[in-house]
Amino acid sequence: MNLVGIIDKLKNTRELSDDEWEALLAAEDEDTLSYLSSCAREVRESIYGKAVYIRGLIEFTNYCKNGCYYCGINRSNKNCDRYRLTDEQILACVREGYDLGFRTVVLQGGEDPYYTDEKIVSLVRAIKEMHPDIAVTLSIGEKSEESYRAYFEAGADRFLLRHETATEEHYAKLHPSDLSLSNRMNCLRTLRRIGYQVGCGFMVGSPFQTTKNIIADLRFIKEFHPDMCGIGPFIPQKDTIFKDEPAGTVQMTLKLLSIIRLLVPDVLLPATTALGTVDPLGREKGLKAGANVVMPNLSPVVVRSKYALYDGKICLDSESAECIHCLSARVASAGYEIVVDRGDHKNA
Ligand code: SAH
Repeated sequence: MNLVGIIDKLKNTRELSDDEWEALLAAEDEDTLSYLSSCAREVRESIYGKAVYIRGLIEFTNYCKNGCYYCGINRSNKNCDRYRLTDEQILACVREGYDLGFRTVVLQGGEDPYYTDEKIVSLVRAIKEMHPDIAVTLSIGEKSEESYRAYFEAGADRFLLRHETATEEHYAKLHPSDLSLSNRMNCLRTLRRIGYQVGCGFMVGSPFQTTKNIIADLRFIKEFHPDMCGIGPFIPQKDTIFKDEPAGTVQMTLKLLSIIRLLVPDVLLPATTALGTVDPLGREKGLKAGANVVMPNLSPVVVRSKYALYDGKICLDSESAECIHCLSARVASAGYEIVVDRGDHKNA
């Protein structure tokens, strides 16, 4: 089958054979890639129109008990200048975000034992009391079912937990042995069962990633049918063992965004900050390839550079208001429009 035939098959059946996946993932010619992204755009617009949802990202702690090899805030990085935001600081970010039109905030952090379940619960409650119409997304890693339930009962709506890679051997090359793919996958299933809108995802071009690994990721995503899916290029961070590894490419990231849009048509798909970091127009390109979410930073400017998952992160010194202004213009230039909306999954 030629590449156009493969793309049509993907669009119509959401299923490809190994050989077809290999051929599509290897494709580099402009005509094929632009056909793929036009199919993804069409599907995206048939479900979400021209709307782009915004999520205000609050990076509230860079302490982490885990040692993920790729991540700049991993526990072994002695050069990482650690910080924690107080409840007052976090609530001030939420308030500012609300006034700027955000109806979703994402609390993201390292796995920091300082934030006990009690603290997370009271934080979620405080946000919901202040703004009942705001959706709260947590992105705080692997917890017990009991903890996830407590946050949900306090009002948390969504949870982002990238699976990172769906292949055991690959997972073991990216993480120390105290972390396992099976636990991460169990967490995703638990979150789903509790009732969260759930997001998974992976890094494009992470060290040791093979085409077979990517195919496994895509098959997992199709089967899991996440509400959200975060993918962005891997970018090396200077204090990690992967500091000399190449970053993932823009082309592969865009191709995968389009493929994921076709595999899970109603998925909420961000054009990530990492994509905007490897290419100044990366997020615009991501939107044109089928993404429908952007996640501007609402963290206080004083801590932004300290949440250094990877090198070269953009928007380090623009205030939130400035960020959203700049991003609105970028979204408009791609032919889309930021809306003031919680941006729930269509089936939520
Ligand atoms: N502790 C939380 C949040 C992790 S940070 C958790 O475990 O889910 C959010 C995401 O950033 C990670 O899931 C990972 O996919 C991505 N990330 C980490 N280091 C990165 C790097 N060097 N380049 C690109 N993305 C990275």
